[in-house]
Amino acid sequence: MAEIQLRDLWKYYDDVPAVRGINLDIEHNEFIALVGPSGCGKTTTLRMIAGLEDITAGDIVVGDRVINEVAPKDRDIAMVFQNYALYPHMSVFQNMSFGLKLRKTPKEEIDRRVNDAAEILNIGELLERRPQQLSGGQRQRVAMGRAIVRDPQVFLFDEPLSNLDAKLRVQMRTEIKKIHQRVKTTVVYVTHDQVEAMTLADRIVVMNEGVIEQVGSPEEMYDAPQTLFVAAFIGSPSMNFLPCQIEAMNGGLTIRLADDLSLPVPDGREERYKDHIGKEMLFGIRPEHITDKRPHTDPTHHDFTSDVVVLEPMGIDTMVFINIGETEITTRSRPRAVSQVGQAMDFTIDMAHMHLIDPETELVL
Ligand code: ATP
Repeated sequence: MAEIQLRDLWKYYDDVPAVRGINLDIEHNEFIALVGPSGCGKTTTLRMIAGLEDITAGDIVVGDRVINEVAPKDRDIAMVFQNYALYPHMSVFQNMSFGLKLRKTPKEEIDRRVNDAAEILNIGELLERRPQQLSGGQRQRVAMGRAIVRDPQVFLFDEPLSNLDAKLRVQMRTEIKKIHQRVKTTVVYVTHDQVEAMTLADRIVVMNEGVIEQVGSPEEMYDAPQTLFVAAFIGSPSMNFLPCQIEAMNGGLTIRLADDLSLPVPDGREERYKDHIGKEMLFGIRPEHITDKRPHTDPTHHDFTSDVVVLEPMGIDTMVFINIGETEITTRSRPRAVSQVGQAMDFTIDMAHMHLIDPETELVL
């Protein structure tokens, strides 16, 4: 069993804190994505799990064993890096089997493991080739094969796809997902790409300046972000944020935005929001929850009109940019339902998906 626990884990580089007291329980066979902007501490966290970086304070527990002092080679953890440096003078087979040979694994066992991994990765035909005779995606597969043959308890990936072009990245993302479905192991995957994190992970960990902002399933992170940072980081195009005031009206609550736009808050949120009546707040709504006007009977749907500023056709949908007061926001419509740039267009907003953020604490209420 390879549960991993990070307990109050700290890392200082001299007097610079890179990781500041994180706690995380990773389940056996779970796929965890560590995601966040450059410098947030994700690679440092991964390297501490691998044993490549000393821990300043805290514990790393794998199974029921504290591994703080265990040498990297004795951790039963395999790491796949962004720069997957294969040995150029060795064949694919030799690259994949090199680690096993060093461990003095019997030849039949090596053959079996390399052939099994090659089948999983669909590189059985390439075993005699040299790395320079492979495409970028194939090389990345060999790098993964090198890790798979070790049959480790835990896989660590550090931005493994960032050297590939956009199309290949999407293909390899699907491959990695398939491989995880076949080779069930615990995976910790570092990326700065929130789409990669959303599509691959069972749970996402969003880091910011050395701390964990939120942990949750992709759906939870998308639908119920707990902080302004997570709300803005997860989702592409990103959530819109508008300055607002919250007012009591007709026994309920209303969001007042610029341009005299007033929108009723869905029922059931009075307790959550009532202490903030009259204060300057932030209203958050994702682009897909403001669409071209549609017939509706749902009490959370409301219509308004605004002028089209920019259109961005995406094929299946068109992103329509509009201004509310000084703020430009992104909305999402069916291509045939949009107006021309400069013309008025009717929209429907679904307030069931609104978020209210306190700008002082940056917490979503
Ligand atoms: P990126 O996506 O850019 O790799 P990251 O989230 O993985 O970013 P880390 O590499 O973990 O971030 O770095 C966290 C912080 O620690 C940064 O401020 C970085 O400058 C600092 N840092 C990382 N490695 C070292 C080092 N060897 N010496 C000093 N400071 C370091």
